Amino acid sequence: MSVIGIDFGNESCYVAVARAGGIETIANDYSLRATPSCVAFSGQNRLLGVAASNQMVTNMKNTIHGFKRLLGRTTNDPHVINEIKHLPYQTQSLPNNQIGIKVNYMNEDHVFTPEQITAMLFTKLKDTSEQALKTKVNDCVISVPFYFTDSERRALLDAAQIAGLNVLRLMNETTATALTYGIYKQDLPEPDDKPRNVIFVDCGHSALQVSAVAFNKGKLKMLATASDPNFGGRDIDAILVEHFCKDFETRYKINPRTNPRALLRLRTEAEKLKKQMSANSTKLPMNIECFMDDKDVHGDMKRVDMEGLCAHLFHRVEITLRKCLEDSKLRPDEIHSVEIVGGSTRIPSIKQLIEQVFGKTASTTLNQDEAVARGCALQCAILSPAVRVRDFSVTDLQNYPIKLVWDPSLKEDGELEVFPQNHQVPFSKMLTFYRRENFAIKAFYNCDVPFPNKEIGQFVIKEVKPTPDGESSKIKIKARVNLHGIFAITSASLVEKKESAEEETPMDVASPENGTAPQSAGAEPMDQQAPENGEVPEGDDGKEKKDSKKKKQVTKTLDLPIEAYTHGYSQKVLNDYHEQECKMVANDKQEKERADARNALEEYVYDVRGRLGEEEDLGAFIVAADKEKFVKVLDDMENWLYEEGEDCSRHVYVEKLNELKAVGEPIKARKMECECRNAALEELAHRI
Ligand code: ATP
Ligand code: MG
Repeated sequence: MSVIGIDFGNESCYVAVARAGGIETIANDYSLRATPSCVAFSGQNRLLGVAASNQMVTNMKNTIHGFKRLLGRTTNDPHVINEIKHLPYQTQSLPNNQIGIKVNYMNEDHVFTPEQITAMLFTKLKDTSEQALKTKVNDCVISVPFYFTDSERRALLDAAQIAGLNVLRLMNETTATALTYGIYKQDLPEPDDKPRNVIFVDCGHSALQVSAVAFNKGKLKMLATASDPNFGGRDIDAILVEHFCKDFETRYKINPRTNPRALLRLRTEAEKLKKQMSANSTKLPMNIECFMDDKDVHGDMKRVDMEGLCAHLFHRVEITLRKCLEDSKLRPDEIHSVEIVGGSTRIPSIKQLIEQVFGKTASTTLNQDEAVARGCALQCAILSPAVRVRDFSVTDLQNYPIKLVWDPSLKEDGELEVFPQNHQVPFSKMLTFYRRENFAIKAFYNCDVPFPNKEIGQFVIKEVKPTPDGESSKIKIKARVNLHGIFAITSASLVEKKESAEEETPMDVASPENGTAPQSAGAEPMDQQAPENGEVPEGDDGKEKKDSKKKKQVTKTLDLPIEAYTHGYSQKVLNDYHEQECKMVANDKQEKERADARNALEEYVYDVRGRLGEEEDLGAFIVAADKEKFVKVLDDMENWLYEEGEDCSRHVYVEKLNELKAVGEPIKARKMECECRNAALEELAHRI
C-alpha cells in the first residue's frame, strides 16, 4: 500500500509518494512532475492534465482550467463573477446558484460542476500514481490554501470522494511546506529549548501565503499566517497582456481583446517573457507570428518596466509580508530564515521585498515546486498505519474565529466565540445548554473572510425532552474543528441526573464513555449562562471523569441526533457523481484501447511495407507476385485508415491487424528461420 500527497495548485499539481525509502515526486505519462490543473473534452473522450493543456488553443471552449478558485462557490458570488469574466469557457447558473461548466463532450452538451471537474483531475493524479507505483492508491493528503473557508474545504473533500480518494487530511499548503522543512532538519533545537522560527513565503499562480512557524526537534507549531488570496503570477501576466494589447493597438491597429485565441497566445507569451525577466534585466523581445489579421507582432520589455507596471501589486506583497511578521510577534532577530516556495517567488522584486521586511536573504532550502506535495505525502505517511515514518507533531491554526449563535433562552447571551483566531486545530469544545425542546445552533465566521457568506452551517439538536418534572434538560454538545479545518457540531447528549439510594456506584451508572456530570441535580439554575465552556484538546474526547466522592449522584447520558445543514453535497449526489465519474473513466479506458488498436494497425502497415523493398530485410522472403499483392493490401489499408476506417471500434482494428499478420508474420518467420539456419551452418563449419 502506498500513500500519496497531492499539491492541488491553480495552475499545476504535484503528487508525491511516501515509501520506506523516503519521499519521491512522481512523474506523469509525459515524464513531467507538474500536471497542469486542466481538463478537456472531445467527441470521443476526456483529456486530463498535460494532454488537455497541450490542445488548449485549438479547443478553448472545452478546455477547463482555473477551477480551484470556483470550488464551493456560487454564481452570485462577486469573486466568481470576476473570475469567469476571464475564462474562455462557458458557465451557467444551476439550481441554488451552483456553478455549472458547459462543455461539449461525446458530441453532446454537458454541464459539470467545479467539484466534478476537480474530481476528473484527481482521477488523473490517482491514475498517474497507480501507474508509477504499480499498486492501488486510495489514501491521500491534499493541500488547500489556509485561507480556504468551510465551503471550499468541503467542496474539495467532495471532489476527492467523487474521484474515489480517501482524504486523511486536507492540509494547509503552508503547513505542508513547513513539515517538509522540519522533518529533514537534523539540527533543530531540543524540544524544551527556544524554538527555531522560520518564515515561509509561497507565491504561486493565483495566491500569496506567508506563515511563521516555530520548530523544535520532532515538532512544529504555526505561529501566524497572512495571505493575499488575489495576488499571484497570473496577475502580473494580466498586466503584461494589457500593456501589450495597448501597444499593439497603437502600433499594429489590432485589438487582441476581441479575439480569444489571440489573447490566449499573448498570455502564454507574456508569461514566458515574465519568467525570462526573472533571470535577466536587459531588454527582452517577444515575437508572435501570424498573431491576428495575418500580422506578425513584436514587442519588448525590461524587468524594470515590468516592476513599474506592477508596483501596486508588489506593494500588496509587502503589506502581506509585514502582516505576518506583526502577527507572529517575532522580532527580525528572532527569525532564523525565510524559505521561499511557489513559482512566483522566483521574481526578483518579491525576493527583495522579503529581504527588506524580514532582514534575511530568501533561502531555497526546499524544492520550490515540490515542497507542498512532499509535505502532504509525509503527513499521509504519518497518519496512515500502512507506512512507517518518523513521527512529527504538527500544530496548526484556525485561520478565522468561529462563533455560535442560538435563540437565547432567558438570560443567555445567544452567541459565543468558540474558536478564537489562531486557536490550535484540530480541537473540540464541550458546551452546555438547558432546553426543553429541539433547538438550533448556527455557526459563523466571526471576522471578514474571503467568501461572501460567513455562515458555516446550522445544526439542529433533536429529540430534546424536558426533565420528568418539566424543567429544562441539560444538553451537552461538542463543537469541533477537525483535521481538515472543517467545523461541525459532532455530538449532542442529554444528561439525566437521578438520586441514587446506594452509597456505592451501581453497575448501571454511566460509564466514563457516557460521561458523568459532577454537579448535583438541580444545582444549576435553568437560566444559567450557557455554555459551560469546556476546552477539549485532541486526544481527550471531552468525557468527564467520574467523581467518586459523589456516588449518590447518578448521571445518565442519552445521545441526541443532530441534523446538519452545511455546505457541500449530500451523500446521494456524491454517489451519483461518483457513478458518473466511473462511467467516464471506463469510457476513457475504452477509447484509449481503441486508439491503441488503431495505432497498432497503422504501425504494422508502415513497418511491414517499409521492410518489403528490394534492399530491405523482408524483401527476399516473399515471391515478387505475392509481394505486389501484399503491398497493394497494405496501401489499401492505409487509405482505409484515413477514410472510412478513421473511427471504428477496437475489434475492427484488431481483426484487420490479424488479417495482415496472417500474411506478414510467415514472411518474418521465414527470415528468422533463414538467419537461424545460417548461424547454425556457420557454427558447424567452425566445429569441422
Ligand atoms: P496556487 O499555489 O496559486 O494555487 P500553483 O501552485 O499552481 O498555484 P505554482 O506552480 O507555485 O502555482 O506557480 C506558478 C506561477 O509561477 C505561474 O504564474 C508562473 O508564471 C510563475 N513562475 C514560474 N516560474 C517563474 C519564474 N522563473 N519567474 C516568474 N514567475 C514564475
Ligand atoms: Mg501552489
